[in-house]
Amino acid sequence: MRYRILGKTGLEVSEVGFGCIPIIRLSMDEAILVLRRAQERGITLFDTANVYLDSEEKIGRAFQGLRQQLVLASKSMKRDRQGVEGDLDKSLRLLKTDYLDLYQFHQVSQEADFQALTAPDGPLEAVLRAREAGKIRHLGVTSHNLEMAVRLVKTDLFSVVQFPFNFIETAAGSELHPLARERGLGLLAMKPFCGGQVDNAQVAFKFLRQFPDVIPLAGFDSVAGVDEVVDLYQTDNQVTEEDLAAMERYRVELGDRFCRRCEYCQPCPQGVIITPAMLYGIVAHRMGPAKAAGFSAKFMETVRQCEECGECVDRCPYNLPIPEMLKEYLALYDQHRLAGKEESE
Ligand code: SF4
Ligand code: SF4
Repeated sequence: MRYRILGKTGLEVSEVGFGCIPIIRLSMDEAILVLRRAQERGITLFDTANVYLDSEEKIGRAFQGLRQQLVLASKSMKRDRQGVEGDLDKSLRLLKTDYLDLYQFHQVSQEADFQALTAPDGPLEAVLRAREAGKIRHLGVTSHNLEMAVRLVKTDLFSVVQFPFNFIETAAGSELHPLARERGLGLLAMKPFCGGQVDNAQVAFKFLRQFPDVIPLAGFDSVAGVDEVVDLYQTDNQVTEEDLAAMERYRVELGDRFCRRCEYCQPCPQGVIITPAMLYGIVAHRMGPAKAAGFSAKFMETVRQCEECGECVDRCPYNLPIPEMLKEYLALYDQHRLAGKEESE
């Protein structure tokens, strides 16, 4: 495993990090096994979030006594001061540490998010105080909206920016990454497997390794998965014609059904929380049906309000058939919900 400096944070991190959503669907013992395997194989960067169910608790239990060897990153999706302060304290407690190397504002994609975060005596001021107090070493931000991500980088408030980047979602490479590099930010790539849509690690990481200063956060749910990716990083990287053809096949397959989570489709006049609902298939794949149904209830229930007006379709830059896809995901969610209910009876 090679190590890189994460922009102006000066943190030394493994050239591939561990994105800790998939451990949600593992038992505590299985998760500990996978996390420890990653650490033994040289992965030092572990990225989690308050909303990833028991992910922080599993990391905390897996790495007792190993804190100095890790770079721990977490995030808060709250938009008010008390909420963010509460999330941070909870992260520290569950991760069994008294500081985080990186704390990120999670999924800042809308203007309203930005305004709330930067409001007087709001979340930004709270995390800056937390940094002064030594609870946080560096401040970062994650987004799925390119325009907003560029804006956030330009504020110079953050040391790290995290954005989707993979061979399907390449937009960050043309403007966001060059700008962030110029300003010295560390670059984290979420969704190296295109949010679970790509099962060919070889192809996924061959693409990403062409950008050595972009640190992918790979989600692992097995020791074999860790080994496969770490082994790949021990070979020379060469993208062949065959790899390019495989990437193209995925692009064609996913092209008209793949939500990039940019949120341009919102707001919905009927109050449907469109973007997370559009990702229900991916969430179910990553968390497993029962946990996904519980986790997604808040937004999946809003899909019932859809009147198929098509306003969102007009705003989607990828022309996704949103109402049709939402219907399919609602049916899948209902199926998972009922199966979960039967199991618990
Ligand atoms: S089609 Fe449905 S989800 Fe889209 S804007 Fe109309 S009501 Fe909302
Ligand atoms: S449905 Fe379209 S506009 Fe909405 S988040 Fe997905 S890709 Fe973006």
